[in-house]
Amino acid sequence: MPVEVDVAIIGAGVVGLAIAAELSRRQKGTIVLEKNHTFGLETSSRNSEVIHAGIYYPEGSLKARLCVEANRLLYDFCQKYDIPHRRQGKIIVATDEDEVSKLEELYQQGLRNGVGDLRLLSHKEVKELEPNVEANAGMMSPSTGIIDGHSLMRVFHGLAREQGVNFIFNTEVIGIEKTEGKYRVEIQDREGTSSFTTNVLINSAGLSSDKIASLVGIDIDQAGYKLHYCKGEYFSLNSPHGAPVSRLVYPLPELGGKGIHVTLNLDDQVRLGPNVRYVDELDYKVDETQKEAFYQSVKKFLPRLRLEDLEPDFAGIRPKLQGPEEDFRDFIITEETARGLPGLINLIGIESPGLTASPVIARYVARIASELR
Ligand SMILES: Cc1cc2nc3c(=O)[nH]c(=O)nc-3n(C[C@H](O)[C@H](O)[C@H](O)COP(=O)(O)OP(=O)(O)OC[C@H]3O[C@@H](n4cnc5c(N)ncnc54)[C@H](O)[C@@H]3O)c2cc1C
Repeated sequence: MPVEVDVAIIGAGVVGLAIAAELSRRQKGTIVLEKNHTFGLETSSRNSEVIHAGIYYPEGSLKARLCVEANRLLYDFCQKYDIPHRRQGKIIVATDEDEVSKLEELYQQGLRNGVGDLRLLSHKEVKELEPNVEANAGMMSPSTGIIDGHSLMRVFHGLAREQGVNFIFNTEVIGIEKTEGKYRVEIQDREGTSSFTTNVLINSAGLSSDKIASLVGIDIDQAGYKLHYCKGEYFSLNSPHGAPVSRLVYPLPELGGKGIHVTLNLDDQVRLGPNVRYVDELDYKVDETQKEAFYQSVKKFLPRLRLEDLEPDFAGIRPKLQGPEEDFRDFIITEETARGLPGLINLIGIESPGLTASPVIARYVARIASELR
């Protein structure tokens, strides 16, 4: 472990890995600290693995801008590095008359965000494309796709390593102190505690990013940085009749999430989820009593769904800035000179579409970092 580095990144999820790969193209002396024994064991491997188009988020928000740009970039990136993916396409459905006008609003939202290929579908067009789906109307997003998230992370990790990044696993950041123009970072590993200094400190610690910010002395309640854990559970669909859809099918979004949708993975396994449940602890168990709620929710647009075909699958936890019933909050990606903490870059609340946006988040952070010099 070096005693002095130029850049230290906390967290080897998809975001920390993407940042490491991007920064190390230009400069040396970067390390990544990760408390687990390898990369990508938390939120980055517990999600829908959907390449989002950028439809849902308010115009001009970071979520919208970074996602729309990343959607284009990610397909080329996957091609270049042989990352398994598929431009699967997705249909968002309206299941009653009230929802049709909401769907049209969402369509306009998508267009304002720069998602240029959206198309509204009639009841008949939905039926032609997805015979098992029942809907009053739909909206097609051809550029929504699926990706093997682990392969994406493996590529970022490989690129970063080739470019000289030092990954330090099994090492948890437990303290941070601002010293003369630098940060002293206290870490805990198998051998005990030690410390090093860094000029630039990047906090991409996912579900712990608010705690990292408070370690540096930021009042996270006052700053609006406090995270809420919001669980998303999945049930797999094991129907003897095979996959009932050939694209991703989503209902209209609900508060806090995109609605329990039907996704396919690259092995054509069908999954329902995720739901939205605020929780107090990081516990990844799937609550089997949710099965009926999943069934009722998806049955609205997939009427032949059978309760007995649903099996608990897995869960992920969103690092959400907004609490239950609260309005939209954007990603926080900011350099903290204004708080008297120059050289500290916080990434907080990187929930969906963080996997999709990761390569563009990385460029955004690299731009901020280059302005520090
Ligand atoms: C249910 C669900 C579905 C989703 N679906 C999608 C989707 O379909 N498409 C999409 O684009 N996005 C999706 N997302 C969002 C996406 O998964 C996240 O935005 C992304 O994975 C965040 O990556 P990260 O690197 O910021 O966080 P993480 O993957 O959580 O990585 C943070 C890392 O920091 C490490 N760490 C934390 N504290 C410390 C410490 N003190 N010291 C050292 N290391 C530390 C952790 O161990 C972890 O490895 C979904 C999320 C959820 C929960």
